[in-house]
Amino acid sequence: MKELFRAIPAVDQCLEALAAADPMLAQTPRPLLRALVTDFWDARRQEIRAGHCCHAASLALKVSLPRLLEHVRSALRPRFREVLNATGVVVHTNLGRSVLAREARQAVSLAASGYSNLEMDLQSGGRGSRHTLVEDLLCRLSGAEAALAVNNNAAAVFLVLDEFCRGGEVVVSRGELVEIGGSFRIPDIMKKSGAHLCEVGTTNRTHLRDYAAAINEHTRALLRVHTSNYRIVGFHSVVPLPELAALAHEHGLPLLEDLGSGSFMDLSPFGLPGEPTVPAVLAGGADIVTFSGDKVLGGPQAGIIVGRRNAIERLKKNPLTRALRCDKLCLAALEATLRLYLDPQQARERIPTLQRITMSSEELLRRARILAGRLRKALGQSCSVTVRPDVSRVGGGAFPQYDLPTSLVCLKPLQNSTSALKNALLHTEPPLLGRLDRDCFCLDPRTLEVDQFPQVVKVLQGALLGLSGQGKNDMQRTNKIGENNKLRAQFEGLKRVINVETQCP
Ligand SMILES: *Cc1c(COP(=O)(O)O)cnc(C)c1O
Repeated sequence: MKELFRAIPAVDQCLEALAAADPMLAQTPRPLLRALVTDFWDARRQEIRAGHCCHAASLALKVSLPRLLEHVRSALRPRFREVLNATGVVVHTNLGRSVLAREARQAVSLAASGYSNLEMDLQSGGRGSRHTLVEDLLCRLSGAEAALAVNNNAAAVFLVLDEFCRGGEVVVSRGELVEIGGSFRIPDIMKKSGAHLCEVGTTNRTHLRDYAAAINEHTRALLRVHTSNYRIVGFHSVVPLPELAALAHEHGLPLLEDLGSGSFMDLSPFGLPGEPTVPAVLAGGADIVTFSGDKVLGGPQAGIIVGRRNAIERLKKNPLTRALRCDKLCLAALEATLRLYLDPQQARERIPTLQRITMSSEELLRRARILAGRLRKALGQSCSVTVRPDVSRVGGGAFPQYDLPTSLVCLKPLQNSTSALKNALLHTEPPLLGRLDRDCFCLDPRTLEVDQFPQVVKVLQGALLGLSGQGKNDMQRTNKIGENNKLRAQFEGLKRVINVETQCP
């Protein structure tokens, strides 16, 4: 063991070798590089102690350099990275939800690159309010009297409950006590806001009389929560919005509606189920409506609150609004996105989320075929490539259970397992995310741009090459020549099925 420890090269020697191997590393702060090299050798020392390293030669700098380089490069790589989304889930919360329209990206860049009139009234030269930047647009698009944007929809719901319901009761149907995910549960957020939850009805059926019976002198509001991410089907009933609004107003109470994934546009002409739009919910009698900026709306992360003027004015004065406000980059992106909605046709074409949700199945098939063709050419015999019909999901809790018809490009590596390929693709530059289905790794063109196809081809090529290299090493190490030959024979047989567009096995 002593001999092994002695074989570990000096840190300065490693630093020199790194700088020679990658000139970019010369720009890295020296103490940081030194610390990374030390970490690397500490890990090797652990391996030696654990008996996983028995050859001094393997520790020589010449031999270790590639691994050391990889360690240093991966540690220096930014943590926040671009990924290729081939999952087909348009509003993928884990992958950053909505992709911004070009107009919104330009607005963000402008806001980030210089000073702006964020809180300056350019008419008077006096202090302005950041809230006015998007209020007119939100009112025009929703038909509301007033509007306010905060950090996200969870914050919007929290703020509204804090302002109007703290210390009192809020009546909610048992069918709407939802958990959105990431531990956002309506009952919990109500508790935090100091509002007491008054549950009425049952999971599947709630009637107007249930709400009426619950109203007392402590009641501050009636709340409807859009059951974004699940559906109750079968024997069930909810109270129609106008009836509930009438009941609330009879008692001088506001009707609050958390729409979750609010939209200004009716997407039913594109074959999606008719979800209530923000203007429709306001017209139906809701006094305050909250929804997300980055779900189906397709803008930046934001919580949008629209409704009655006096209510919104009260919210603007709530000290929590200061804590939950949007930053300038968000407001820039939100304004640019909302502007696109002034022309619905333009919104559908330019806002990536809308464009992807409404993409026709013919277009998806065309794109799948283009991608499959390029992959066949590039991957040759390492992988079978087929196209088959399937479905995509909107995501973000919007349109649950609704299947968007799509065409998948299905890959089946001939020498490696599909899950090995999936894992290898997490470490490519950029990582590529798809879905595992029926023993295939599947790419859904809905969430890829055509100009990303070359990148997709490149990372797949790299991943498969890496896997086959690994496979070879394993075989050499264990000297399983026989198995190697068997694989090769299998591989020859499988060549014939390549380039045939069929159902996935
Ligand atoms: C998504 C969602 C939220 C939370 O919105 P964020 O913008 O993610 O904070 C709240 N309520 C409902 C009904 C939702 O669907």
